[in-house]
Amino acid sequence: MPYPHLLAPLPVAHVTLKNRAIMGSMHVGLEEEGGNYPKLSAFYAERAKGGVGLIITGGIAPNRAGQLKPFASTLNSSREARRHHFVTDAVHAEGGRICLQILHAGRYSYHPWNVAPTRLKSPISPFSPWGLTGGGVRSTINDFIQCAKLAKEAGYDGVEVMGSEGYLINQFLARRTNKRTDEWGGEYANRMRFAVEIVKGIRGAVGPDFILVFRISAMDLVEDGSSWEEVLQLAVALEAAGASILNTGIGWHEARVPTIATMVPRAAFSWVTKRLRESGVVKLPLVTSNRINTPEVAEAVLAGGAADLVSMARPLLADPDFMAKAAADRASDINTCIACNQACLDQVFSNQRASCLVNPRAGFETELVYRPVAAPKRVAVVGAGPAGLSAATVAAERGHSVTLFEAQPELGGQFDLARRVPGKEEFDETLRYFTGRLTQTGVTVRLATRVGVDDLRGKFDAVILATGVAPRKLDLPGADHPKVLGYAEVLRGAPVGKRVAIIGTGGIGHDVAELLTHGEAPPSAPDAHLAAYLAEWGVEPTWGAGAAVPGGLRAPERPAAVREVTMLQRSSRKASPRLGKTTGWIHRAALRNRGVKLLTEVTYRRVDDAGLHIEIGGQPQVLAVDTVVVCAGQVSQNQLAGPLREAGLTVHVIGGAEEASELDARRAIAQGAKVAAEV
Ligand code: FAD
Ligand code: NAP
Ligand code: SF4
Repeated sequence: MPYPHLLAPLPVAHVTLKNRAIMGSMHVGLEEEGGNYPKLSAFYAERAKGGVGLIITGGIAPNRAGQLKPFASTLNSSREARRHHFVTDAVHAEGGRICLQILHAGRYSYHPWNVAPTRLKSPISPFSPWGLTGGGVRSTINDFIQCAKLAKEAGYDGVEVMGSEGYLINQFLARRTNKRTDEWGGEYANRMRFAVEIVKGIRGAVGPDFILVFRISAMDLVEDGSSWEEVLQLAVALEAAGASILNTGIGWHEARVPTIATMVPRAAFSWVTKRLRESGVVKLPLVTSNRINTPEVAEAVLAGGAADLVSMARPLLADPDFMAKAAADRASDINTCIACNQACLDQVFSNQRASCLVNPRAGFETELVYRPVAAPKRVAVVGAGPAGLSAATVAAERGHSVTLFEAQPELGGQFDLARRVPGKEEFDETLRYFTGRLTQTGVTVRLATRVGVDDLRGKFDAVILATGVAPRKLDLPGADHPKVLGYAEVLRGAPVGKRVAIIGTGGIGHDVAELLTHGEAPPSAPDAHLAAYLAEWGVEPTWGAGAAVPGGLRAPERPAAVREVTMLQRSSRKASPRLGKTTGWIHRAALRNRGVKLLTEVTYRRVDDAGLHIEIGGQPQVLAVDTVVVCAGQVSQNQLAGPLREAGLTVHVIGGAEEASELDARRAIAQGAKVAAEV
């Protein structure tokens, strides 16, 4: 067996899970409308078929006050339970197991009727909560219990009670948010009563034949969070109350520590679960999560004794067959989650349906279907950036005869540059995946081949033009001065001086600033990488093993920047408003911490030996820099489209070749797949 720990079965409550992988809870945006349940069922059924041991649904509120936003999904009537049967039947038909997550958002709710233990507004919702009365606390507990009963009625194998990430139960647990003086506040025995009564009540109502997972916050990462001793005390009480599994959560949503973004080391928090496991206070199976995205990492975590199960949420969006491929010893075929959040969390936080940058079928299983073709065509795909790679592999998977032309000696286009940015090393995985898919689907690949019309005329039935973008040139006196470099040159390793001006504050400007202030690559030894990350973001490494303060924070150690960097833009707007909703703050904070300066409302005048000449508010100034890096956006490379059409070819233009503005790899890959699904 390739991954003996990961693939080992585990008896829990009345069932035996077929392996140690849980698909963690993710709200995908299909939950809200009854008409979407067939799509939601297809989403979960595909993951059940792909072999994951247990699926946890996105969070469903036990009552209206607990909804994350107005009209969000609740389960508090038999009518709603009937709708859930679509999902449970579909998962069971594929041999899977599924638990419903009960999530009461408390003060994180985005509506004016939200409630909390105490009337204290959270920093991430504009609405102040109503403080629950004693009667309100009791009726909320009853709503949790009723929701679990309805979940059983709906055919679920169990429930997960969401007690972490700063939601209502967590708000009761921590002094930070619970200032009550009644039986639900004060001493920890009182603050944890809400959680324990919910679990006890659910177990009493559903009986022993039902999985009851509790997601416990093992480290809050906020000031005045729970202490380690309180975490242990709660774990013991939850076991006694009837929980079957403890799933360990890390960090409240309001925490200012990145816990799942690309720059977080893989399995960065499994040591916390391990300390809970090694404390020996509970016998329950423990689940660990956060940045576990390959079978190798999952196996190492389990084999190292950190946990009994691993939870992977986004990796199952990226590849529903993750576990089936692991079991067949085909890990190198897995489409790995790169932790970008771009198509999943960023979408959900923009009230859009979640999908996946590397797998645009996620969430669209019934709509984006790759049907085999009856009459294969000869298809040329020009350009092997993300758009071309996606189009070529999907077209070939459907049965077309596909040739992929790439001007450069390697695959990837701009993605090949992106992967050189510190913290974006995961992008390598996407190129590894597509390289494998090209072989598996039988695409003929012609590298280092820049094609023109004559190369394609008469030889193909259809051309998919994915020639991408070229950096916008600077139109300025001195733009050809030796101290001016393009971002591509810098990313490919051109020498850069100690004082740098970056023209442009978009995603690429931020990435170049990251690279130039970062210095050395992250320490290659995993432990050193983890230690550096924990130190930079102020996470207490002695948590669970020493005298850590409640919440697990310590003073961050700001890394020294290896260069003095100034970023400039012409407009007055916030720098790079299009950086991800859930990750933009991390990029900005990291650069601020390394002393990167930002100048806005800049007029560029010229570059010469003295540096970059600019004006701000009509005042001329010179930035005495050694290097000026141009990150001023891109322009489409689609000059071939017209002549190819004139030559009588059917041409589909995709990705950056179609539109450079607001382009990213998500759009490029999705567009490639969509065009190839229809060609
Ligand atoms: P491209 O990637 O530009 O690929 C086009 C390909 O066509 C090139 O390989 C080119 O050589 C080839 N080509 C052109 N003409 C011909 C021809 N005549 N014959 C043969 N081949 C030809 N996006 C994100 O979503 N998230 C990120 O975090 C992110 N980070 C980035 C970081 C950096 C540093 C950079 C540079 C980009 C980043 N991007 C990111 C943007 C993303 O990489 C692009 O949006 C994406 O690569 C565009 O895909 P594409 O296939 O349309 O074009
Ligand atoms: P961008 O986000 O459009 O930023 C371009 C920058 O150049 C802006 O700051 C703009 O600011 C400036 N600019 C535009 N025209 C200029 C000109 N003629 N002279 C001087 N400055 C000019 O584009 P990008 O940074 O090149 O990124 C390309 C795409 O890759 C983006 O769509 C982005 O989504 C994606 N990407 C994403 C990430 C990520 O982490 N998610 C990272 C990298 C890239 P002013 O107009 O104010 O001067
Ligand atoms: Fe992972 Fe990015 Fe896909 Fe989300 S969009 S699942 S983070 S690869």
